Amino acid sequence: MPKRKIVKIDEDLCIGCGKCVAPCAEGAIQIVNGKAKVIREELCDGAGFCLGVCPVGALSIEERDVVPFNEEEAEKNKKLTKEKDFSEITCFSCGRDDKNAALFPVRIKGDSLWVCAKCIPRLIHG
Ligand code: SF4
Repeated sequence: MPKRKIVKIDEDLCIGCGKCVAPCAEGAIQIVNGKAKVIREELCDGAGFCLGVCPVGALSIEERDVVPFNEEEAEKNKKLTKEKDFSEITCFSCGRDDKNAALFPVRIKGDSLWVCAKCIPRLIHG
């Protein structure tokens, strides 16, 4: 198996909130028995879009021997995850969802939230 980057989940820290599931466009992360798991390692490209949303710092990127990233399968799964309802994920400031704006994870006063591109300047400049 080749060495490559992949998401690592610290199960002792994970509280099973599920916030890391939606940012994974490939659908590699699921909640299993109350803990986040990389259920299909071949779908995780190690990009780390999930890292910023974890409220307890349970996610990191590690480099280890693991099955190769399967781009074809990941693309197929991306289409499936697009059909899932992630309507609870909205900009904390204006309420837009990801169908109406690009959303980014932010950490504010200890909370993991989403903010849209239109509201980011307000966060930066006040
Ligand atoms: S965001 Fe963090 S705490 Fe929540 S399910 Fe994912 S790994 Fe666990």
